[in-house]
Amino acid sequence: MEQSELMVRRIKEGTVIDHIDEGKGLQVLDALGIDGKDGSLITIALNVPSGKFKKKDIIKVENKFLKDDDTNKLAVIVPNATINIIKNYKLVEKRRVALPNEVDRIFRCSNPECITNSTEHIESIMDVMDKEGRVLKCRYCSRVLDVNKLRYN
Ligand SMILES: [Zn+2]
Repeated sequence: MEQSELMVRRIKEGTVIDHIDEGKGLQVLDALGIDGKDGSLITIALNVPSGKFKKKDIIKVENKFLKDDDTNKLAVIVPNATINIIKNYKLVEKRRVALPNEVDRIFRCSNPECITNSTEHIESIMDVMDKEGRVLKCRYCSRVLDVNKLRYN
């Protein structure tokens, strides 16, 4: 068993998001809208040793099976993350995150004049132009967005 596995207790049912880039764990929770207010048990491990010189973050959400639609949002922030679905202590599904064709709500358009930044309360919609290069484009103002500089909604 990997050392990192031992640091966070095993869960019976739920989702484990593994291989989150070091320091991005809290952003992942934010992007998924997970705040623990529904009473679900959430374990967050930051800076877990992974390999010789690397670290990673891990999030375990008990009694919740995150769907592709949810976890694919993470492809923008943590493209190397893996999603593990656990049932009765067993890993029943393991998948990589994959960038969807559009990313809704999570990010704010960087154009201050964009209608999504006005007081109209219009949710952002960004089309993914290039999945490899992670290039997004605001559907409202057509601004091409650098994923590394996006701010969260
Ligand atoms: Zn825009």
